[in-house]
Amino acid sequence: MSQKYSIFSLVRNGLSYHRNWERAWRSPEPKKEYDVVIVGGGGHGLATAYYLAKEHGIRNVAVLEKGWLGGGNTARNTTIVRSNYLWDEAALLYEKSMSLWEGLSQDLNYNVMFSQRGVLNLAHTLQEVRDTQRRVNANQLNHIDTQFLTPHQVQELVPIINLNSRYPVLGASFQPRGGVARHDAVAWGFARAADHRGVDIIQNCGVTGIRRENGAVTGVDTVKGFIKAKKVAVVVAGNSSVLADMAGIRLPIESHPLQALVSESIKPIINTVIMSNAVHAYISQSDKGDLVIGAGIDQYTGYGQRGSFHTIEGTLQAIVEMFPVLSRVRMNRQWGGIVDVTPDACPIISKTAVKGLYFNCGWGTGGFKATPGSGWVFAHTVANDTPHPLNAAFSIDRFYTGHLIDEHGAAGVAH
Ligand SMILES: Cc1cc2nc3c(=O)[nH]c(=O)nc-3n(C[C@H](O)[C@H](O)[C@H](O)COP(=O)(O)OP(=O)(O)OC[C@H]3O[C@@H](n4cnc5c(N)ncnc54)[C@H](O)[C@@H]3O)c2cc1C
Repeated sequence: MSQKYSIFSLVRNGLSYHRNWERAWRSPEPKKEYDVVIVGGGGHGLATAYYLAKEHGIRNVAVLEKGWLGGGNTARNTTIVRSNYLWDEAALLYEKSMSLWEGLSQDLNYNVMFSQRGVLNLAHTLQEVRDTQRRVNANQLNHIDTQFLTPHQVQELVPIINLNSRYPVLGASFQPRGGVARHDAVAWGFARAADHRGVDIIQNCGVTGIRRENGAVTGVDTVKGFIKAKKVAVVVAGNSSVLADMAGIRLPIESHPLQALVSESIKPIINTVIMSNAVHAYISQSDKGDLVIGAGIDQYTGYGQRGSFHTIEGTLQAIVEMFPVLSRVRMNRQWGGIVDVTPDACPIISKTAVKGLYFNCGWGTGGFKATPGSGWVFAHTVANDTPHPLNAAFSIDRFYTGHLIDEHGAAGVAH
């Protein structure tokens, strides 16, 4: 077991001018064979590895990442965490995740900077008010802490909002336990904790093929050679269809760019997260002071991790309309990630027709919030070769049986 982070280790390392900190995780060469190979070193893949080792005692595990840890959507998202989904299946899965977030820094011994500053979802039309109230009621029946706020209550929470703009605010849902977390830290924290439990984390190791024999997976081809595996768990977000194709599987997924921006740092002005599905815009303020702003998906499909200018122009117009006081704040950076969107805006966490091959994908615009819960249920699915009750409904079969879980209202663009 490596060094535990604590006030004592901080003081001890301070005495040697912080030159002797251990590396957070090893960088081993891949072994010839593993019990489980996880493809994709984003938050979900790393969380899966961690819970496989922690909850199921499966430690002969490798996480193969084609680039660097968290270089995919994990470090490109706007970090919004909430669990106020409409349908029981989704709400309970995201709520499991929320409960894991609440103890995650302690569990991982790594500060993921989870900040429960609340999340507001604005309603701009009478129909949106009705839909929001319905979702609030559904959440309350699932013991999720969502409440309906009047425009006056929204204004009290967010004094800079213009309630009477072109997008009038007629109400909002508010989840006080929602918030944000530091995305890189989530990848690093899971990586460090998984490594401590014996998981091999191998970066710069892209998977180029999935080998099968007699309908069962036998391993993966990688840029570092063939790696044998009893089980292969694929968690590659925007690249899911590419990996599925390697195994002869067709996924009901479209890959779209999704963009975000951050502004220059300004003094604290927003202390919650504000989202508007209708205008495809959401905003929070990071601990550094940057405004973190997200857009809707670019409508075309593609794998380039960038998007088109008119999408973010529309988002910024909406932000300025709702928060005129921000009109002269300058934007510092903009980027895109590729999100894997399913027809019912819900993930696939599932076994496949190939024995020993599992897919966790389709989180679309909203999987960051699910990172711990997704890893937890996926680890269960891989370890037991059967889904946990929390993810049983998210099987790939639902696209054949028609048992879809339509979360477009709660997922939409909003995270
Ligand atoms: C701009 C933007 C804003 C977002 N905002 C939010 C938000 O506020 N809240 C929220 O909940 N969600 C949000 N999301 C969605 C969220 O980021 C994703 O759903 C989530 O991070 C997916 O995590 P992951 O670990 O599955 O994927 P990733 O972090 O993308 O990890 C997948 C990894 O697989 C690797 N990989 C791909 N192909 C291969 C291969 N052949 N071999 C090996 N490795 C491979 C990639 O390099 C990548 O590192 C946002 C997404 C974007 C793009």
